[in-house]
Amino acid sequence: MPGFEMFGALERAEVQDVLDSGVLMRYGFDGMRNGHWKARELEQALAARMNTRFAQTVSSGTAALTVALASAGVGAGDEVIIPTFTFVASFEAVLALGAIPVLTDIDETLCLNPSAVEKAITGRTKAVMPVHMCGSMADLKPLKAICDRHDLLLIEDACQAIGGSYEGKPLGSYGDVGCFSFDYVKTITCGEGGGLITDNETFYRNADHYSDHGHDHVGSDRGAESHPFLGYNFRISELNAAVGVAQIRRLDEFLRIQENHYGILAESLAGLEGITMRKIPVTGVQNYSFLNFFLPSEALARNAHKALAAAGIDGCFYWYDNNWHYYRKWEHLTELKTLGSVSPEVQEKLSGLKDLTFPSSDHWMGRNLSCLIKLGWSREEVAQRGEKIKNVLREVLGAA
Ligand SMILES: *Cc1c(COP(=O)(O)O)cnc(C)c1O
Repeated sequence: MPGFEMFGALERAEVQDVLDSGVLMRYGFDGMRNGHWKARELEQALAARMNTRFAQTVSSGTAALTVALASAGVGAGDEVIIPTFTFVASFEAVLALGAIPVLTDIDETLCLNPSAVEKAITGRTKAVMPVHMCGSMADLKPLKAICDRHDLLLIEDACQAIGGSYEGKPLGSYGDVGCFSFDYVKTITCGEGGGLITDNETFYRNADHYSDHGHDHVGSDRGAESHPFLGYNFRISELNAAVGVAQIRRLDEFLRIQENHYGILAESLAGLEGITMRKIPVTGVQNYSFLNFFLPSEALARNAHKALAAAGIDGCFYWYDNNWHYYRKWEHLTELKTLGSVSPEVQEKLSGLKDLTFPSSDHWMGRNLSCLIKLGWSREEVAQRGEKIKNVLREVLGAA
């Protein structure tokens, strides 16, 4: 993370194709576009890389989640199980459809805890949406078993873990639908953009139509297309998709760099008494965009976070206090601060949220630090960084 560090000639050439034809839109204008269909090309590359039958690109990762849920039939009043540690997009997508986000505990994977998910299921639950945070993944097999048993959809948010895998399957391809973000700070980026993958032809067709006002995309006269159902506009532009076409070709190169840097940092922390690594499911392979570890207590994690910053080590996050990623700071959600009114069922279901606490999520998040892995570091810089982190942590732990 993030792919913008590596922008160069490849990205420029793809964007130039679009500028040369002047067709910035992904649909229509067939005669003018010099054969360039960047969004389509990105979809083909995404499906091929992720081993799925279909891919649909959209305007953002948040749009991908919204379109995925809508395309799989989630609607007003349905409950969707999401983790307490995620990005605000998880509940935004659910709420946008009039559905109800149900916050649920994470465990030492930093992702949804399967037994907490089982307990959160009600007669109105429609989907479970694990979020593969900070480069690693939820334990998908037990989650899928629960979904199968209760006839629920499994929608993977793989926005932060593109290129990782589980049981040999690319993250995002294990559940019914998988979602990616190509926003500016993700492992591969379009500036703004997102995508979803699926093997389900109906969900794919729904996503294709829904993300473009319900257009059925039959024939070559856009104005004459019909609308089998209501949709919305979540289209990606050709300019953004062009950047993505270049970046997805570089995904595996980026992953190798991240893994390399991760290895060096992890090596320097190995054997540090008091530091434990985040749990990676046995069959999981990370995308290595973050190094995540636990300290023995919340107080020590806070000290370590401060000490790392003071030592000039940037990019180490203490998510427990973070406004975007952890439920403790989501007053706008828990107090349901909306511009307009919401449906009585959303109101009712979310009214208890501000009194809810999640001690087992707090147990893990309160002790966790997450250090970003950059692509642009030299080998020497990474080694020095690892050395510095080790020394800072040793000092913090020694002073305990
Ligand atoms: C970035 C991100 C999103 C949303 O992506 P945008 O493209 O910024 O809308 C969703 N979920 C997670 C976990 C993310 O990190």
